[in-house]
Amino acid sequence: MAELADTYLSTISSLPGHDGVDALSADHLLFTSGAVDGVMLLLAALASPGERVCVTPPTFPLYAHFAHLLRLPVVDVPLCGDDLSRLDTEAILAADPRVTILCDPNNPVGTRLDPEQVLDLVVRGRGLVVIDEAYVEFSEKPSYAGLVEEHGNLIVLRTLSKAWGLAAARCGIALAQPGIVEALRRVQVPFGFTNASQHAVRDRLTNSRPVLDGIQRIRAERDRMASVLAEHPAVDRVFPSETNFLFVRLHKHERVMEQLRDAGIVVADTGRAIPDTCRITIGDRRANTALLDALSSAV
Ligand code: PMP
Repeated sequence: MAELADTYLSTISSLPGHDGVDALSADHLLFTSGAVDGVMLLLAALASPGERVCVTPPTFPLYAHFAHLLRLPVVDVPLCGDDLSRLDTEAILAADPRVTILCDPNNPVGTRLDPEQVLDLVVRGRGLVVIDEAYVEFSEKPSYAGLVEEHGNLIVLRTLSKAWGLAAARCGIALAQPGIVEALRRVQVPFGFTNASQHAVRDRLTNSRPVLDGIQRIRAERDRMASVLAEHPAVDRVFPSETNFLFVRLHKHERVMEQLRDAGIVVADTGRAIPDTCRITIGDRRANTALLDALSSAV
C-alpha cells in the first residue's frame, strides 16, 4: 500500500498547482473508500461528542449528514458574495468548531474559495480545517495538498472518482500530518480497499495521459458551454466554474426542469437549496448539444 501511496503522490506532484507535494510521504496519506469515507472517518476519529462541525452551504450535503449521524452539532455558516465563494471567516472563528469542512472547488456552485481566506482560517482557527478537493483537477488554481506538512490542522481530501474516472473503485485519499493519518487509520474498517481496486488505481495512475487529456477536453467544453449558456434565453446566470459542471440560474426553472426530464436529460435540480438553479455536468459534444436543444425548446 505504501508503494501505491508513493505512486499517487508522485503522480499528483507533477500536476500544475501541486508544489510541496513532493515533500510528502506515504505516512501523510490514507486511502479511504471514496472521499466520502474520509469525511466519516475524520469526524469519527477527531471530533468528540458535543464538538461542533462547521459547514458552509450551499455545499456538498453529506458533510452535515455524517455529522448528524455521529450526533455532532452542525453550525451552518453560509457562503456569501455574488458568486457564493466568500467565507464568513469571522462567523466561523466565532463558532469555534472542532472541524470546519470546506469544499473547494465547491459542489454545487463550481467556484473556488479565496486562498487568503482559507489560509487565514487555517492559521487563526483552533480546530481542524478539512478541504474536500474532489474536483480540484478541473481547476486552474492550486491545490492545498502541498500545505499539509506545514499546517498540523489541515486535512485535504481527494478522490479518483471524478477526473480520474474511477468512481467504481471507491478510492479516496486523505492527506494530513502522520499523527492525523494514524488516527483515521485506527477507526477505518479493514480490507475496504480491495485488490481489484488497487490494481485499477495503479493502472490509472501509471497511465495518466488519457486522464490529463480528458481534463483538458472537459475544461475546454465547459468554457464553451458557459459562453453559450450565458447567451441562452432560458438562462439568467452561469456561475464561473472550476469543475466539470456548470451551476446555472434559470428563467422558468420548473418548466425547464420538466423539459429536460422529458428529453431524458439528467441534470441536478438544486432549486430547493438555491432558488431557480440547476447543476449541469459537462458531457461530450453530443450530450451537450442535446442539452442545448432541449433548453431551446423550453423557451
Ligand atoms: N466530495 C464531493 C464534493 C462530491 O461532490 C462527491 C460526489 N458527488 C464526493 C466527494 C464523493 O466522492 P467519492 O466518490 O470519492 O466518495
